[in-house]
Amino acid sequence: SRSPNCDHLKALVRTVPDFPKPGILFYDITTLLKDKYGFASLIDALAEHYIGRDIDLVLGIEARGFIFGPALAYRLNAGFVPVRKPRKLPAPVARVTYDLEYGTDTLEIHQDAIEPGQRVIIVDDLLATGGTMEATIKLVRQLGGEIAGLGFALELDFLKGRSRFPDFDVFSLLHYD
Ligand code: AMP
Repeated sequence: SRSPNCDHLKALVRTVPDFPKPGILFYDITTLLKDKYGFASLIDALAEHYIGRDIDLVLGIEARGFIFGPALAYRLNAGFVPVRKPRKLPAPVARVTYDLEYGTDTLEIHQDAIEPGQRVIIVDDLLATGGTMEATIKLVRQLGGEIAGLGFALELDFLKGRSRFPDFDVFSLLHYD
């Protein structure tokens, strides 16, 4: 980790072996979120990175991007936009389908969620392979948004997900080898 502060935050993340299936080490941020120092530090550190960058919108990816995305948006005086699983949004949507290890997944966004040229950041709790973020980038492109950054609480460095995004500012607070 990068600083004593980050070590303290890392200590608040719980790891659960073999969840949701054998061989996966799950990084559980609920233990960080429930800690009043931890939650504030997480939001402050993310906000610090984006302050002064004229962010119009924070896009949060369902479901864990919904937990801290809105708090970050509030701190940046930006709006919040949910990127959702299929058939949750009521008005016309843009849709992207992407490959998983087994099968496919779909994400949707309201067609009118982003004005062309608005500066957006996309946030999620954790960067693993980057497949989820790559799909969300396609949605933002469809709507004509300008991507000012990709933000994560945690990044699994060994999966090299950030190598999918050479043209973007990728910022993660906590790094794991
Ligand atoms: P990916 O598309 O491979 O970057 O996976 C990112 C999404 O899957 C994020 O929304 C994460 O919440 C979730 N995820 C992937 N791997 C893990 C893990 N080891 N622990 C917790 N969440 C994970």
